[in-house]
Amino acid sequence: TKPAKDTVDEGASYDIGLQDTEHGVVTRFPPEPSGYLHIGHVKAALLNDYFAHKKYNGKMILRFDDTNPTKEKQEYQDAIVKDLELLGVKPDQVTYTSDYFQDLYERCVQMIKDGNAYADNSPQEQLQKERMERIESAHRNDSVEDNLAHFEEMKAGTEEGTKWYIRAKLDMSSDNGALRDPVIYRCNPSPHHRTGSTWKIYPTYDFACPIVDAVEGITHALRTTEYNDRDAQYQWFLKTLNLRHVYNWNFSRMNFIRTLLSKRKLTKIVDQGTVWGWDDPRMATVRGIRRRGMTIPALQEFILKQGPSKNINYQDWTSFWATNKKYIDPVAARYTAVVKQDHVKCTVAGAPEAPRTEDKDVHAKNAELGKKKVVFSKHIILDQADAQSFGDDEEITLMSWGNAIVRKKHYSLNPIAAVTSLVAGQGERTITELELELHLQGDVKKTAKKITWLSTDQDLTPVTLYDFDYLITKDKPDPEDKLEDILNDKTEFKTEALADCNVAGLREDDIVQFDRKGFFRIDRALKHGEGAVAFQVPTGKKM
Ligand code: ATP
Ligand code: MG
Ligand code: MG
Repeated sequence: TKPAKDTVDEGASYDIGLQDTEHGVVTRFPPEPSGYLHIGHVKAALLNDYFAHKKYNGKMILRFDDTNPTKEKQEYQDAIVKDLELLGVKPDQVTYTSDYFQDLYERCVQMIKDGNAYADNSPQEQLQKERMERIESAHRNDSVEDNLAHFEEMKAGTEEGTKWYIRAKLDMSSDNGALRDPVIYRCNPSPHHRTGSTWKIYPTYDFACPIVDAVEGITHALRTTEYNDRDAQYQWFLKTLNLRHVYNWNFSRMNFIRTLLSKRKLTKIVDQGTVWGWDDPRMATVRGIRRRGMTIPALQEFILKQGPSKNINYQDWTSFWATNKKYIDPVAARYTAVVKQDHVKCTVAGAPEAPRTEDKDVHAKNAELGKKKVVFSKHIILDQADAQSFGDDEEITLMSWGNAIVRKKHYSLNPIAAVTSLVAGQGERTITELELELHLQGDVKKTAKKITWLSTDQDLTPVTLYDFDYLITKDKPDPEDKLEDILNDKTEFKTEALADCNVAGLREDDIVQFDRKGFFRIDRALKHGEGAVAFQVPTGKKM
């Protein structure tokens, strides 16, 4: 078995050509520092990186689009830098839209002076209604002096200033709503995480993006396809402000079933404590999916493979986790864990009188991964569910040991349990003990049950196993859906278990397999007095 590759096939080429690349390619990834990166952002970041660094030998800029102080924080900015590092995306330069606030301000003043922008104070609903009905604002033809005065009022952040905003003067009769006088500047007296209280006015994305793209020498501005309608507006700003040409290139937004990707909603579930934080294993953030056990090369492969698709669709998590399994299966060390609750003690007749420890390969198909200790002795435990399935005198296989015959079962004498199971019509009395008789000459190929077991003559490692479900109950939530209505009540499933002595040496982030239980990522290593914590890694069924 080959160890998993640690990089994606760099030779792979995706047929997603950009126009006019002979004069160099400069792309940018422009996150707003208003949350942690999620899997949708990963697509944008990897595509920009792919074009700039793999396909065209160009340059990529990481630009913090920090134009809304109310939503942005240094914490998010730092997290984005770290997450890109983890993803192997290395920007050639890091810039901030806030570094251009003076320039953007001056250009807005120029637009007003040239009659290309005006101040408006119509309430939000009226603005929307007039835009829908293609009605010009009462302020559309105010004088340059009035407009400049309102802009200065905004800049000062006065009470009056907060009521105004600046709109570009395009075409209120256009069939394209994005051309009906978009808002380009807003007043917001909240302090900004980088510029403090220097500015009380902030450019909108629509205004800042084309200008900063052109000024920074971006050649191709990649955006998701819901910006298609805004390409004309983007190009209008470039032309009106006499700026260098920039190509727009749109790719499809990534969506997953039963998954929240809107930063507003993600912030809400973090703030209200629905999840443990931005790195919660149920979150589709870079940190969340890593904590759930996703490996970076698998993530790169999964995303780049779908590069060219422009269809907006909802993906299932199945192929995402199946891709990951290809990477972890050959390198995940294999151990044993038994469910603690109602575990069954067995005596094994014919086992060595004194416990014997052997070194075995930690992965049957990958000897390079090293050895683990396996203890053989008369006293072992196994899962209640396995014990329940045994017939009288059934021959079973104890994995990595050999066959044994089930000679005797002892049941609990709990009368309540007995009555309940009688009522339920099932033979579900708890088995407390089993007597097994080793039968090593038996053929392991002929038994129906290969059973995991643990000798109790070793220091068993307490470990809490977690499995998770989707955070929401609706496959494709509508924007109108109220979060409370679609949140899943129970998303966390916890099982206490006992694992073999080797598990005590595992470290945080190790990805292992517990035989017959699946893949797990160690979230917390064993500490003195505290058990280890492991998260089930999905392999294709549910996230
Ligand atoms: P939200 O709407 O949740 O605030 P956003 O798109 O505004 O997300 P940004 O930080 O502005 O978040 O996004 C940075 C880049 O990532 C943008 O180029 C954006 O188009 C891209 N992006 C965001 N979400 C997705 C997604 N689901 N699929 C693909 N690209 C995305
Ligand atoms: Mg946003
Ligand atoms: Mg955005």
